[in-house]
Amino acid sequence: MALSFALSDEQEQLRGTVRRFATQEVGPRARELNAAGQFPVDLFARMGELGLLGLPFPVEDGGSGADLLTFCLAVEEVGRVDQSLGITLESAVILGGMPLVRFGGEEQRRRWLPPLVRGERVAGFALTEPTGGTDAAGLRTRATLDGDEWVIDGGKAFIGNAGTPVTSHVAITAITGERDGRAEITSLLVPAGTPGFVVHERNRLVGWHAIDNRHLSFDGCRVPVGNQLGRRGRGLANFLSILDQGRVAIAALAVGLIQGCVDECVAHAGRRHAFGRPIGAHQAIAFKIADMQVAAQTARDATWRAAWMHDQGRPYRREASVAKLYATEAAVTAAREACQVFGGLGFTTDQPVGRFYQDAKVLEVGEGTSEVQRLLIARELGLPEPR
Ligand SMILES: Cc1cc2nc3c(=O)[nH]c(=O)nc-3n(C[C@H](O)[C@H](O)[C@H](O)COP(=O)(O)OP(=O)(O)OC[C@H]3O[C@@H](n4cnc5c(N)ncnc54)[C@H](O)[C@@H]3O)c2cc1C
Repeated sequence: MALSFALSDEQEQLRGTVRRFATQEVGPRARELNAAGQFPVDLFARMGELGLLGLPFPVEDGGSGADLLTFCLAVEEVGRVDQSLGITLESAVILGGMPLVRFGGEEQRRRWLPPLVRGERVAGFALTEPTGGTDAAGLRTRATLDGDEWVIDGGKAFIGNAGTPVTSHVAITAITGERDGRAEITSLLVPAGTPGFVVHERNRLVGWHAIDNRHLSFDGCRVPVGNQLGRRGRGLANFLSILDQGRVAIAALAVGLIQGCVDECVAHAGRRHAFGRPIGAHQAIAFKIADMQVAAQTARDATWRAAWMHDQGRPYRREASVAKLYATEAAVTAAREACQVFGGLGFTTDQPVGRFYQDAKVLEVGEGTSEVQRLLIARELGLPEPR
């Protein structure tokens, strides 16, 4: 299909549905949920009811068979109102369900996927370790075969959706041997509640206050050999390819944040007066908001381009990194400027812009830092590899 910026009727409809959900059901509760620091089980289930949690999964797996671009529209709309629920949607689908869709055997997909799609359960994706996340191949977690069980020892850090009341399992990477002088890394599914699988207290984060994020430990934790996800030795490559899709969706989340800043600032700059006129009539303020809109539109274009390339089956790694890098750095700037537009009110978490300011920073870190995106783009351009 030729490139077109016109969304299909189905995409427009979905966008409208998610916008209504976000403004009517999420927006009025965002302040309270973030203040309470709770994973919202009911809103998560509601996303299941709306079909958002299986949007890009094949119909035969209970999904809607939509493309990545359509999923990005949903993430943007939720993220425009609340970044915590936006990242929960992104991570539940791309990090929680997608590894099963792409690498799971038929029996695994039949067993684990339907409750995830319905919003009854959620799954985690555990790659990062306490000793480092960027150097994902430098992991220490090990799994050894004992009869028909894998025995896992090690730890993971900053794992989303791993300790909610509805967590079904986490997919982890572990060293399972050695191949050609290198660590053989395999992915395994560890069900919640397995003896030896310890889920620690929620991390006290700067933003994303209504998510579930924890460190995990594995101490002689046993799972059946049937819980191996994908081929032995392909665990790291499989996880990294999931992150390519995730980067596009994180870019969409950042677009939502920037657009949310525009929405809030346009309203505030029209009603707040200083020196006898609305502050939006002062060009210093109007120009900040105009710059935010430029960022929202440019970041959205980059995101849609990356998603479209993915959906066309074309190589899209460079486009994913460009979108993620641009959108997330622009989100940090937009959130800072939005707080400035709100003056003192912008430094309160009662205001969405104050929460956006807290939430923006981590967008430059999760699913590959800005430095990693620059390294990937440089590599795609054929620049010499660092030694
Ligand atoms: C809220 C939150 C949620 C998360 N959710 C998950 C999750 O669900 N699952 C999961 O597996 N992980 C998750 N993470 C972990 C996240 O992916 C890592 O924090 C991230 O990849 C960076 O790894 P690190 O924190 O170990 O930083 P480090 O790898 O220690 O990096 C520190 C700094 O050094 C830079 N750096 C490292 N190597 C290089 C290099 N070669 N060249 C240039 N700069 C370099 C990095 O860019 C960074 O700025 C989450 C993190 C947070 C904060």
